[in-house]
Amino acid sequence: MLRIIATSLKTGVITEANPFGAHASFGFPVIDFNRCTACDECARSCPTGAIQVGTAVPGRKTLSLSYAACIQCRECVAGCPEEAVSVANEIEVAAYSRQQLAQAASFDIDATTGRGTFSHVDVEPGFGLSASAARLRARIALIRRRCESGMKWRRRRASRRLSAESRRSRWSA
Ligand code: SF4
Ligand code: SF4
Repeated sequence: MLRIIATSLKTGVITEANPFGAHASFGFPVIDFNRCTACDECARSCPTGAIQVGTAVPGRKTLSLSYAACIQCRECVAGCPEEAVSVANEIEVAAYSRQQLAQAASFDIDATTGRGTFSHVDVEPGFGLSASAARLRARIALIRRRCESGMKWRRRRASRRLSAESRRSRWSA
């Protein structure tokens, strides 16, 4: 043990606290639907199909992005001609529902130019993924507290039963 401590004192710190700094090469993409023209370039460049384009209704397109399928490769950022895709620092994928991991919007399509104009948001992502992780941590802590108080209650009940039994055996002796 002392040898390990002596070696680490001699070596010093060899890791960096934040090696990626402000230019981390990971993080989920975020689409600014107001800039987006529904040109499909991002969907075509996405290797995992995390970005999907829907054309079920004539004259209208939907664009959806699912963080559940995203591998944070940033191909969509480079592929967007409108600079509508940026990268957030969000990296955690912890959620209660699939809706939290998705965002989607509808666009009206100009019949002549094929260009889309943002109409409305179809799916709002739920509260942030970090917030989701925090909620999960709080829930685990609550369950732990309940388990601990349940154990205390069982211990108290067992000790009451033991004292009642010992009283009974004293009277009958
Ligand atoms: S970062 Fe990569 S995987 Fe994620 S949506 Fe963009 S292209 Fe698809
Ligand atoms: S590439 Fe850009 S403009 Fe085209 S659909 Fe994707 S986000 Fe919208």
